[in-house]
Amino acid sequence: MIDNQRLSKLLFKELKFTPQEIEDKYPQRSLKEGARVTRFAPSPTGFLHIGGLFAAMIAKFTADATDGVFYLRIEDTDKKREIDDGVSEIVDGLNSFGITASEGVLGFEREKGDYGPYEQSKRCDLYHCFANELVKQGLAYPCFCTADELSKLRDEQENQGVNKGYYGEFAKCAQLSIEQIEQNINQGKPYVLRLRSQGQEDKKIVFDDIIKGKIEMPENIQDIVLLKTNGVPTYHFAHAVDDHLMRTTHIVRGDEWISSVPIHIQLFKYCGFKVPKYAHIAPIMKEEDGGKRKLSKRKDPEAAVSYYVQQGFPKQSVIEYLLTLANSNFEEWRKANPNAQQSSFPFNLKKMSVSGALFDLAKLSDVSKNVISLMSADEVLNGTMQWAQKYDTDFYELLNSDMEFAKNILSIDRGTKKPRKDIAKYSEVKDYTRYFYDEIYTPSYTLPENISPKDAALILEKYMEVYDPSDDKNQWFARLKDICQPLGYTPNVKEYKKNPSDFKGHVGDVSTVIRIAITSRVNTPDLHAIMSLLGKEKVMSRLKLAKDVFEEEF
Ligand code: GLU
Repeated sequence: MIDNQRLSKLLFKELKFTPQEIEDKYPQRSLKEGARVTRFAPSPTGFLHIGGLFAAMIAKFTADATDGVFYLRIEDTDKKREIDDGVSEIVDGLNSFGITASEGVLGFEREKGDYGPYEQSKRCDLYHCFANELVKQGLAYPCFCTADELSKLRDEQENQGVNKGYYGEFAKCAQLSIEQIEQNINQGKPYVLRLRSQGQEDKKIVFDDIIKGKIEMPENIQDIVLLKTNGVPTYHFAHAVDDHLMRTTHIVRGDEWISSVPIHIQLFKYCGFKVPKYAHIAPIMKEEDGGKRKLSKRKDPEAAVSYYVQQGFPKQSVIEYLLTLANSNFEEWRKANPNAQQSSFPFNLKKMSVSGALFDLAKLSDVSKNVISLMSADEVLNGTMQWAQKYDTDFYELLNSDMEFAKNILSIDRGTKKPRKDIAKYSEVKDYTRYFYDEIYTPSYTLPENISPKDAALILEKYMEVYDPSDDKNQWFARLKDICQPLGYTPNVKEYKKNPSDFKGHVGDVSTVIRIAITSRVNTPDLHAIMSLLGKEKVMSRLKLAKDVFEEEF
């Protein structure tokens, strides 16, 4: 047995606080009973994966549903993986989807809250203090093994066919006497601080995961590293201290961390911290060649949240879609409450699926069409302009040149009981509105098979004679009906269906020809509204142009 007090003095000469002072500095939060404190704790690698957004969203909604706190902590103890401005990338990524933390890191060198600092690299004094407590209890020791020695150990273990790692009889430095340690330190040998695990291979830990249920795993027997040679903690140790001091009640994170739970529970217990509750989320999967795999940062552009921003998906759409993956009852709730705020959905961690949900871009588009169909014209215009300002500046200028006009276009058929669902992302608005802008519209006509160019030309000729821009919608339609009979069409669709051979077609065909002449499309929102917005001059010139083109065709 070595003298732990002496070891503590040897290793930690200048501690800034006592554990009690720290506990007092970060008191229990005064929240209402049952309020959950959750966090998102990414490394600042500068890439926000859709799985990260998913986890952050679930952590936030879990906290919000209980009037709790959701905070953002940056886990930057591994400087090798960090990129410049990785923090902003993550914060901006989350914010652009409305997953804003009420506490923690807000941006580069910006944070808010009483439990900070929220960047691990700024909390070393705190970690040292708790590491020292472990040393004092004989639960941590310095290890002077070099990289070379460790690699030899691994080879040896491989040859022996035993589990790899630093544990039990292989944990050479666990046996060092205090004199040997002192001598090594005096000689300036670098060392890490290791946990002296009391775990036993044949014993199990059991914990109740809110999503996955009861999980049983072998205890951790590895003497894992707590502090690296430069005194910076490893993720495992830092997160235990932080989740304790920041008073996290529920650790919501990806299920790739389940295998680390035995280490984590051990750390919480050895440090005298209450073990938080766990909720491990299954990853988002992708279907490929009949199988399933995780969405990959390398292979799938849709793995990065920036993809959705670039594509022009509104943030609500992405969140609504992720909610359908998270809680299977969300879709039903949305149907019953089409106009309710997303935040009023009673989010429930227990309803999360145990295995990975399949990501489906087509489904995202459907969800998004619904979301956009319920927006006001102003919202669609603002969203589109924000998107276009960055990704399609020509179109932005076009919209900006007459925003009232743009808003009127987007108002067509909006706000009705059954709004059209044809825009899935802001990048589609250009094509959707194209025929309103001569700058981006090139007429190109394709008639349905049942209408000949000759008949189309006759329809247009006749229509030009009667067209009156001051008509309201009823008068406009009445006029279309009026020209039917002389052209061999019937104004009455039912009548046509009864005796199709008596007519060339019905009023729907007549309006189709006019629609094609004005927009080059067979399917558009309300044609009367479109023509009113375009105005007499443009309407007449488009009717004439189309008539000329059809005449040339026969
Ligand atoms: N920093 C870890 C990560 O990058 C967080 C794991 C956790 O949430 O405990 O995913």
